[in-house]
Formats: sequence, C-alpha cells, structure tokens
Amino acid sequence: MKSNYIFITGGVVSSLGKGITTASLAAVLEARGLRVTIIKLDPYINVDPGTISPIQHGEVFITEDGAETDLDLGHYERFIRTKMKHYNNFTAGKIYSDVLKKERRGDYLGSTIQIVPHVTDIIKKRIISGSNGYDIVLIEIGGTVGDIESLPFLEAIRQMVLAVNRKKILYIHLTLVPFITVSGELKTKPTQHSVKKLLSIGIQPDILICRSDRTIKDNERKKISLFCNVPKQAIISLEYVNSIYKIPAILKSQNLDSYICKNFNLHCPEANLSDWEKVIYHQEHPVGSVTVGIVGKYTTLIDAYKSVIEALQHAGIKNRFIINIRLINSQDVEILGIEKTLTGVDAILVPGGFGYRGVEGKILSAQYARENNIPYFGICLGMQVALIEFARHVAGMTDANSTEFVNNCTCPIIALITECKDTNGILIIKEKNHNLGGTMRLGNQICYLTEGSLTHQMYGKKIILERHRHRYEVNHIILSKIKQYTELNCVGFSDKNNLVEVIEYTNHPWFIGSQFHPEFNSTPRDSHPLFIGFIKAAIAYKNNYHKLI
Ligand code: GLN
Repeated sequence: MKSNYIFITGGVVSSLGKGITTASLAAVLEARGLRVTIIKLDPYINVDPGTISPIQHGEVFITEDGAETDLDLGHYERFIRTKMKHYNNFTAGKIYSDVLKKERRGDYLGSTIQIVPHVTDIIKKRIISGSNGYDIVLIEIGGTVGDIESLPFLEAIRQMVLAVNRKKILYIHLTLVPFITVSGELKTKPTQHSVKKLLSIGIQPDILICRSDRTIKDNERKKISLFCNVPKQAIISLEYVNSIYKIPAILKSQNLDSYICKNFNLHCPEANLSDWEKVIYHQEHPVGSVTVGIVGKYTTLIDAYKSVIEALQHAGIKNRFIINIRLINSQDVEILGIEKTLTGVDAILVPGGFGYRGVEGKILSAQYARENNIPYFGICLGMQVALIEFARHVAGMTDANSTEFVNNCTCPIIALITECKDTNGILIIKEKNHNLGGTMRLGNQICYLTEGSLTHQMYGKKIILERHRHRYEVNHIILSKIKQYTELNCVGFSDKNNLVEVIEYTNHPWFIGSQFHPEFNSTPRDSHPLFIGFIKAAIAYKNNYHKLI
C-alpha cells in the first residue's frame, strides 16, 4: 500500500510545540493500529546538528543507527513505538551538500543547478524513501512559515501533490491564537495572516491546530474557518496543559484522528489510549517527591538535557514520585563549593558533555556522592569523571585525567582508543584527528554485563543494547594499575575491543557510571531500568537509609 503524507508547518511564532504536537498526533494514529513514522526537516545549513552547541537548539538526539539528530526525534520515540533512523531527519545543509557532491561528480551533465528542481527533487526523494512501509508518514518542517531558510522545503512539499496523489496528502498548520487581556478577546488575525503567507507559497492548509492559553470556542472557530477556508471540524483547539502526555487525548477528543482517517479513506479501529491514561494517572497521583541534582555545564537552556530530564520524569511516573530537577552549573560547584550547590539533593546525575570547562566541578560532585553514599548516576562524561575522581582520590594518582582535557597527561585513565596501545610500557599518543564531525563511536552497541552486578540486576539480562556518542574510552593500561582497589567494579564490556562500558562501586548503595546513553531508550510508557533503579535509590536515600549503613 502507498503511504499517506501529513505535512506539519508552523506559523505566527516559533516554540509552539510543533514537535510534541506532531508526535502526539502520531501516537493517536498508532493507537488505531496504523503503521506510523515521522520525518523532521530542519532548515538550517549545518549538515547535521552534531556540531551545534546544545545551548542553541537543545540536545543532540542519537538514533539506534548512530545518526546525530534534532531533539524532536526524541519526542517522536517517546510517543510512538517506531524507532527513528538516520533518514528520519535531514537539514537544508545536508541537501545542499548532496546536490553539490552530485554537481562535482558531473551527475547533472552540464545543467545549471537550481533550487527548483534540483534541491526540491532531492527533498521529495528523501521524503518518499523514508515513508516506505508505513501507512502514514508525518513530516514536520522546522521553523515558521516566512523564514528564508525553509522556502525550499515548503516548495518541495507543495510539489508533493504532483509526485503522489493529492488525496494522500494533508497539510496541517500550527498557529498561535493569543488572548488579549485589555479587550478580553482571543485574536484570530495572526492565524489568518499566517495562512495567507502559506497560501502565497501555494499551500492551502487542510487542518489548523491552534495553540492558545484557553479553549478556542465555536465563535472563533467559525471565524477562522471562514477566513482560512478550512472546515470548522478541522480547526483544533490546543490549549496549554500541565503534562505533554495529555496531548494525544486532547487531539482524539476533537476527532482529529477520525477526520484524518476519513480523508485518507483508512478503515481502522478507534484509538485505544489506555496506556497513556495510565501514564497520566501515575503522574497525577504521586506518593512523594525527590530532588535530583543534574550537574552539567549547559544549564542556560533546559532542552540541552532533554532526554535525561525526560528519562528521570519517566522513572518518576513508574515509581509514582514527583521528580524535582535541580540544574546545577558544574562551574558553580567549583567556585561556590559543594555546600552552596549540592546540599539537599537526594541523588546526583552527571550527564554527557564535551570539553574541559566545568569538569573539575563534576569531579567534585562524583567525590561528594562517593564519600557520602549519595546515589550517583554518571552518563558518558559522567562515568569518565567518576573514574578520574577514583584514580585521583582513592588510588592516589593525583595527575589522573582524560587526554581530552590534558593532552600530554601522565596518568590518562581516559584516552582515545588509539592512545591506549602499549608498546613496552610506553603509551603511544597518536596525532589527533582535528576534524570534529563524524569521528565518534555512535549508536547502538552490544554490551555484556557481569552476572550478579547491580547493573545486571537492574536490567535483568546479561546482554544489552545501548546508544553511544563519545570519542574517549577507559584506558585499560591505567585501569590495570588500580585493580587492587576492589571497591571499583567494571561490570559492563563492549563486544568489540572489550572496552569498559559500565562501572559501579561495591561499597556504595547506588553508584553507576555508563559509557553509553541510556536516556535515549527511555519512554513514558516503559521507563528505563537504570533510571527506575536510580530513582528508587534516591527515594531510599531521602528516607534516611544512608544513616542506617
Ligand atoms: N567528551 C567525552 C568523549 O568524547 C564524553 C562524551 C559524552 O559525554 N557524550 O568521550
């Protein structure tokens, strides 16, 4: 069967939650038994978001197949069961670089290369090939209508009606309907203008989803319908809610999924949202709360740690606990000290990161957690700093560090894999690759867990698959020199090269460091075993277990 396409554009202002709305609609359609996937088109010129600072667009989401993608793909995986792949996200930069590569190879046989048709053709081809095997593919176009960068994407989705049947396409436009306090009215004019802008590009929206701080009543819907040429039942009111996981039910309550299925002539059962109802019930009936301190350096933008924060919240849902997140700038830990920054937290999580700034504050946090029996979860860099801390303060290797931070470090407990080779006791430091794009260990990799370890107990199995994103590894040569300290236990190893993937401390209630990123595999419906265990440990810590040890 040929796929049906839903294109989602945004208007009036950005940050209306286009990604979450798209994911929520996909969740309702999936709950009707349809095979659903989502593609995100990003209008910026970077070839992928991998090298963009997390404080600009938020975290970089890693797919199973190792693509560095936009954080919206994280929302998609949290809402639907389909796993995202590298072809579920592409940027304008990627398209331009493909076109230019082809041009250099002479593939265009002397033609003049233009946005239409050369760039738009590649966009359409990528959308169509990404939809293979699905009943419905939702395509979210980043940015807002009117942005210069997004024009080739909008032109390509306009042309899609020529590439596939118009009956298999729906255009959804997401807008803002603001409430003006002075007049006490909801204003539809910005929506009307935004639809006009879309019309000038050649796209008549079929459905409007209107964001507002209150329900949009019949009157305004009638008005929007008339001015925008959209049937009244296709004007959906989406007010702000206290949990994003309520949005699928809001869309369903206005029959958006039925309207879509009718338009595509798809016959399928009603959406069963019972597992989402359970999520919301747990969220709204907590039995307690704990505070988790996330010690990182990208603290100015909460989206920089999106998947980690979501994974903590999911574990909260599973345990029926409210999770209060305290974002702590690791440089503040260095400057202001532990007391002023970490006191009062029930658990400490040090997430992934790059570069030396703030690392010493993370090392101090790991030390504080180790010495005070506070639950500690170190993810990627968070595991590396825990090992540096252990080597420095327990094993007495005062110079312990990562070669990421000190190039000619005498005690590189963390190093590039090429640096970890030992010839007659001499460490070989190879020339570094200074090209930062595409030089990492990325995506799903097999890890073997040691039987009986805490991590093994959490997962309940010995072989796990988790996603990676890092260049540096635990250095076996230095590690072998601290083997006698039995409180440090390496309990997870990679399939290839036997690299250390998980560490834990035997004399600590819950101290786990993982080289991989488990947060990318957490969903509100299932949560993740390591996060569930971490929150359980935080609850126990809050209940004063640490005083009993
Ligand atoms: N900077 C470290 C490395 O490249 C850790 C990366 C991370 O935390 N994702 O190995």
